[in-house]
Amino acid sequence: MYIVQIASECAPVIKAGGLGDVVYGLSRELETRGHCVELILPMYDCMRYDQIWGLHDAYRDLWVPWYGGAVHCSVFCGWVHGRLCFFIQPHSGDNFFNRGCYYGCTDDYMRFTFFSKAALEFLQVSNKRPDIIHCHDWQTGLVPVLLYEINAWHGMANQRVCYTIHNFKHQGIGGADILWSTGLYREDYYFQYDRLRDNFNPFALNLMKGGIVYSNFVNTVSPHHAWEARFGEFGYGLGHTLEIHHHKFGGILNGIDYEFWSPECDRFIPHQYTPETFEIKAQNKKALRDRLLLQDVDKPIICYIGRLDEQKGVHLVHHAIYYALHNGAQFVLLGSATEPGINDWFWHEKRFLNNNPDVHLELGFNEELSHLIYAGADMIVVPSNYEPCGLTQTISMKYGTVPIVRGVGGLVNTVFDRDYDQLHLPEERNGYVFYQTDRHALESAMERAIGLWKHYPEEFQKLAIQGMNCDYSWKDPGDKYLGVYEMIRHK
Ligand code: ADP
Repeated sequence: MYIVQIASECAPVIKAGGLGDVVYGLSRELETRGHCVELILPMYDCMRYDQIWGLHDAYRDLWVPWYGGAVHCSVFCGWVHGRLCFFIQPHSGDNFFNRGCYYGCTDDYMRFTFFSKAALEFLQVSNKRPDIIHCHDWQTGLVPVLLYEINAWHGMANQRVCYTIHNFKHQGIGGADILWSTGLYREDYYFQYDRLRDNFNPFALNLMKGGIVYSNFVNTVSPHHAWEARFGEFGYGLGHTLEIHHHKFGGILNGIDYEFWSPECDRFIPHQYTPETFEIKAQNKKALRDRLLLQDVDKPIICYIGRLDEQKGVHLVHHAIYYALHNGAQFVLLGSATEPGINDWFWHEKRFLNNNPDVHLELGFNEELSHLIYAGADMIVVPSNYEPCGLTQTISMKYGTVPIVRGVGGLVNTVFDRDYDQLHLPEERNGYVFYQTDRHALESAMERAIGLWKHYPEEFQKLAIQGMNCDYSWKDPGDKYLGVYEMIRHK
């Protein structure tokens, strides 16, 4: 099959979170099975150019229709760790992708509206006719709309779209300029409730809703979150739309790329290890302490890796730091906050705890350090308010770091409580789960984990190795995505 992924991220060249990992990992899995995969990405000024091999211009004069005129673009092409990527660079005064950031601009919805339009235009004029176009999140929600309403009339009637939603919270809300810029001129038609009109604001269009309505298949990134989004509050207003389109909606758990995330072959950690040589993990713990100037004492290291924002349960993350310190554990945090209030709060904590030899807060994004933390820590906390899938718990398990998680979204599908899980055999359990959002719930799970580490170290090691032996690779999700592609391709 010929598959084109259109996305706003692809690790490691463009990565703000799990979306980048998934776009890369899924593409690699599909290619190893013999399918042809190409990626179309924006050419951001701030992406990691050092992660692209052989960057060259592939299509010099791409004219993208825009507001009745056209924007001149160049398309560059290069390999990101073996994946063939096309990068779209517009030459317009809007400087859509020269902002020094991936997201966070007030005109984000127009930046990615343009990207969606340009990606399809590129496919159209370069005569690329993939069997499947796979798009991701609100940034590319307009792709199936444009494909069906415009490009299908210009030789692209046979392309099918799979649309994956990684986070329902950000939906891409905008006004009629989305329509006028892209050539979708019939305002009344697109503003209908069963098309792009936002479910709550009758004067706004919702790009993610467009993606759901127009795609051939829609999925979110875990079965449990698919249920939560459709029936609970985590659809952020799109539950009714999902209900209407439930026949083409499902949940497929994200995999992780074990070529990149595996303690056996990880280039970023000083000492490689396997479940059979688990004792070597202690040397990485020592290396982590040396690097972060933590004291070398007989205490477990608990870590947090991830964005610092409401979704991730920042208040519980904060509480976990102090609970660990007061209960004989060390704490390492690696996180970045986009909200100024949360950023200031953690910078304040960092200064406050600066001289404490049992804690280190690293504020910012650091891929390489994240590997050392996964390898060196004993436990990881993931107290999310909601979590479509979550990758940090599955990555940490691979490194023998025991997850302590809140039972929501994909965390429910991947972490099984050592003491209380009733659906899995004791030898299949791999962590600790709590359900409430208050600190007592978190404390009870942390207490059980720290207690096992201190009083039954052999049992703790057994639990960690059981986590290492779980298979959260792309194998099973790869089968599922291919099943979806096959299904929609023959419709
Ligand atoms: P998100 O909601 O951000 O997508 P996920 O758990 O799905 O969360 O994915 C997070 C990914 O980003 C993981 O690969 C994690 O290691 C990485 N990550 C998150 N924050 C940081 C950071 N500050 N530095 C390095 N890597 C990070």
